Amino acid sequence: MSYSTTTLPNITLRIGAEWVETAETDTIRLPYDGTPVATAARGTRELLGRAIAAARAAAPALATLANYERAELLERIAALVRRDAAEFAQLISQETGRPIQEARGEVDRGLSTLAAARDLHGEVVPLEAVAAGAGHLALTVREPVGVIGIITPFNVPFNLALHKLGPALAGGNAVVHKPSEQTPLSAWRLAKAVEEAGAPVGAYNVVTGAGREIGAALVESEGVDMITFTGSIATGEWIRAHAGLKKVTLELGGNSAVILEPDTDLDTAIPRLVQGGYGHSGQLCISVQRVYAHSSIAKSVTERLVAAVEKLKVGHPSEPSTAVSSLISEAAATRVEQWTQDAVERGAKLLTGGVRHGATITPGVLAEVPASARLMQQELFGPLVAVNSYDDLGDAIEAVNATPYGLQAGVFTQHLQRAFATARKLHVGGVLINDVPTFRSDPMPYGGVKRSGIGREGPKYALEEMTEPKLIVWRV
Ligand code: NAD
Repeated sequence: MSYSTTTLPNITLRIGAEWVETAETDTIRLPYDGTPVATAARGTRELLGRAIAAARAAAPALATLANYERAELLERIAALVRRDAAEFAQLISQETGRPIQEARGEVDRGLSTLAAARDLHGEVVPLEAVAAGAGHLALTVREPVGVIGIITPFNVPFNLALHKLGPALAGGNAVVHKPSEQTPLSAWRLAKAVEEAGAPVGAYNVVTGAGREIGAALVESEGVDMITFTGSIATGEWIRAHAGLKKVTLELGGNSAVILEPDTDLDTAIPRLVQGGYGHSGQLCISVQRVYAHSSIAKSVTERLVAAVEKLKVGHPSEPSTAVSSLISEAAATRVEQWTQDAVERGAKLLTGGVRHGATITPGVLAEVPASARLMQQELFGPLVAVNSYDDLGDAIEAVNATPYGLQAGVFTQHLQRAFATARKLHVGGVLINDVPTFRSDPMPYGGVKRSGIGREGPKYALEEMTEPKLIVWRV
């Protein structure tokens, strides 16, 4: 059980045309067993300032690239990622502890994210719809915001970076990226691909380091025009409060739920629940955390889910057959263990799993979990799913909505009318009918309501956020 052997990468900063080492470094370790996987430079405020200056200097050149030239740049980056896909996947797996099969999937997803970031256009504005506009023609062109600060979380370090970098470059912006201090490997490797693809110098700068220092300084910098953030609610709130008049988009947490109506096709639903609840050890913002199964099927749902979950192979992330590996840290696993105990103390039944070994939690299923349990209210970020039963669909919808989050939700039913009526009543950013809320296809609009965020991603939507419409009016 090991990755292909190479010397430990030395993760440097990327500032303009330079690869910068720092006096102080951090050892990045495989979360599964603590094996060192890289040495990472630790950015400073001074180096961040240089990176922002490099981006500012690059911004005019990027703004003047024609759309097709920006699209070709993204294609060249994608070709290099495709060429070195195995290396990218290994770095993602090593920094996150994500099973290698899933890390390969993340690289593929990143390629589709890059491919989708190219459709930039303004619109003709019908000024003559009102008398005051008579005799005028108007159109908008989309102009870059300028310098965009990207801040990303640990869990999907590569594809989430591309969800920001792709549209930023397609919109003609320069970027300073602060990856999670736990997972800087793939961002550094991506910067190498961006250089090899021939991007203008300073287009993509990467500064690693602590969130409260380097991330905070990026948020507060006068040289940055927009912050695009994915991460926890607490950090998102801090950013919103300190970003001043910058544009800010926030992709935050969730505790996604699925409703299973009496006519649910369990042959379809159970494998999807397994993938949605236990993929990446439940560390996705749209992981299935709560299942509301109609009382007529609840028993078979729990029995079949437990049987499927007990077959999941738990192990080292480099092993191709591993389905579930560690969480990002032992501290994270200890928190999940405590929240599981909290649910059990409040009356929940732990049907299987939920046992911690170091940073790893065995895949678990809980039933009859009181709404007061922490894992019903907050984001668990662990490989456990709570299954509760209901008799009335209205009560299930109310339970799904009764949390501070609103990212995505799912409903399984063959009944068209009930499916759409439910979709309209769920207070979330996206509803999946006959699928789990964990479904995400990269081009789709993606984001949350309530405390799950502000703004939408998906390249087309992020491109709108990352450009300004300039109005041009012509008196004829
Ligand atoms: P986090 O908020 O702890 O950290 C995210 C990033 O913010 C890191 O790069 C960190 O260094 C930086 N940061 C921390 N404090 C900062 C500050 N004061 N100013 C600026 N930057 C700061 O989140 P995490 O634990 O890395 O990631 C897990 C969270 O991300 C979960 O809540 C998950 O739901 C969320 N997430 C959301 C989405 C989505 O699309 N909605 C996707 C993936 C993850």
